[in-house]
Amino acid sequence: MTETTTKATPASKTAPDATPVLEMRGLHKSYGDLEVIKGVDITAPRGAVVSLIGSSGSGKSTLLRCCNLLEDSQQGEILFKGEPIKWVGSGLSRRPADAKQVLRIRTNLSMVFQQFNLWSHMTILQNVMEAPLTVLKRDRAEVEASARKYLDKVGIGDKCDVYPAQLSGGQQQRAAIARALCMEPEALLFDEPTSALDPELEQEVVKVIKDLAAEGRTMMIVTHDMKMAEDVSDHVVFLHQGLIEEQGTPAEVFGNTKSERLKAFLSSTK
Ligand code: ADP
Ligand code: MG
Repeated sequence: MTETTTKATPASKTAPDATPVLEMRGLHKSYGDLEVIKGVDITAPRGAVVSLIGSSGSGKSTLLRCCNLLEDSQQGEILFKGEPIKWVGSGLSRRPADAKQVLRIRTNLSMVFQQFNLWSHMTILQNVMEAPLTVLKRDRAEVEASARKYLDKVGIGDKCDVYPAQLSGGQQQRAAIARALCMEPEALLFDEPTSALDPELEQEVVKVIKDLAAEGRTMMIVTHDMKMAEDVSDHVVFLHQGLIEEQGTPAEVFGNTKSERLKAFLSSTK
């Protein structure tokens, strides 16, 4: 199946700008004495979908949170469109040096969480409009038009005026994806976007992610859904105890698995 999987090659992949949207080089991250990321290099070229897989506790969420600077890292570089993050201090006291740079990067790497994290006191439309209005200070009418467009795109254009609690989990997650898209980010970061959903609702979210992949969005996706990883990814990274144990195309990683640890992990997910 892997060999026959077709993914539309987005025009952006042939664009002359070869600078990756996101790169991590030799990244290390500890929580106190516990080192959870032990020297990881990952590149997300423009238009590519990179999936992170691995057992619970292997460091997938931590790595994703380091990318958009929700977590500090102690060593290594993070580059956004070729621009290195500037740091002050070193080791456990290393911090990003430039708050404007952090804001720019964070708003350009929109995150979608397992638990949706919608604001319960706001309607779906208000949820989607909030950050573009307050963080990016964009024009209200323009933001509203864009929010409605993205809610339509994820198939819940008729839910603008309801509150999150009135929606199914799958609809809430699609609203969260519309909210991420409304920031017009350079890349989307997903942390287990389907893990909190019942299997029948999972598929409606997978479909949205597949559509985004087909239109050439740059994405990094932490997922337990090996079928989705196989279908949507250009590159799959298997993390084990904070290190990359194996990586490659879906055909390589799923169809010609080398590492015994990855073989064991894949059979545990079946
Ligand atoms: P995954 O997403 O692959 O399940 P995580 O990145 O959440 O893994 O966790 C990696 C390791 O870091 C685990 O051992 C976890 O217990 C630890 N960890 C995660 N977040 C924290 C935190 N805020 N403080 C201390 N340890 C943490
Ligand atoms: Mg996690």
